[in-house]
Amino acid sequence: CASQSQDFDFFYFVQQWPGSYCDSKKSCCYPTTGKPAADFGIHGLWPNYKDGTYPSNCDPNNAFDPSQISDLKSNLQQNWPTLACPSGDGIQFWTHEWEKHGTCSESVLKQHDYFETTLNLRQKANLLQALTSAGVQPDGNSYSLSSIKGAIQNAVGFAPFIECNVDSSGNSQLYQVYLCVDTSGSNFIDCPVFPHGKCGSEIEFPTF
Ligand code: 5GP
Ligand code: 5GP
Ligand code: 5GP
Repeated sequence: CASQSQDFDFFYFVQQWPGSYCDSKKSCCYPTTGKPAADFGIHGLWPNYKDGTYPSNCDPNNAFDPSQISDLKSNLQQNWPTLACPSGDGIQFWTHEWEKHGTCSESVLKQHDYFETTLNLRQKANLLQALTSAGVQPDGNSYSLSSIKGAIQNAVGFAPFIECNVDSSGNSQLYQVYLCVDTSGSNFIDCPVFPHGKCGSEIEFPTF
């Protein structure tokens, strides 16, 4: 119903490390437009409730329309690349993200603004620069969870949540970084609630 589709408390802005997406059991496929940069890419901007639950697929009548984001396409291909198999040009990934998550904040951000706002957040949160300037590099070595969190907190001003996955030999590695954003999509905020999931205290930062 209409009231459900506009009701959420904050966003998770989620970025993924491509080296960790690829270095897992399920592997990856580079986009048809070529290998992405060795940098964090956007996974999504996800409306969430303060109790940790979240709405999804809020409006079947608001399907993704690629013609509305044609001016953003090269920016999206650079900063929101798809790594799933089989290779795609991104449209499948952005369709999924819009329909599952974006439709749940459509009262605040229409489709074009949802993607533009998410790209702006990516510009404001340069995670690779935050990490490398603190000596945390994507070199295949392991770093403490606290050094990773501290470097991002210093740069962004707010504590991130780190999600790990497991590499092909079973080591915990840096997979996704969650930051919280107010309902306008413009300002980082302290997270009302953190996601669940465990990392080791030492986390691998794989190359890409
Ligand atoms: P996974 O189960 O792999 O952690 O997450 C699968 C998908 O569920 C995510 O890509 C995302 O679409 C959604 N999801 C998982 N956790 C959260 C969450 O805490 N908040 C929101 N809004 N979506 C989530
Ligand atoms: P979620 O529900 O986890 O937000 O969305 C993940 C979905 O998007 C999955 O169906 C996955 O196959 C697809 N997808 C396409 N490209 C990517 C990518 O680069 N990273 C992730 N995590 N999912 C992708
Ligand atoms: P504390 O909040 O005392 O630093 O950590 C409490 C527990 O939560 C510890 O087991 C710590 O490893 C875990 N933890 C803290 N921050 C994160 C995070 O960003 N991601 C994950 N996966 N676990 C965390």
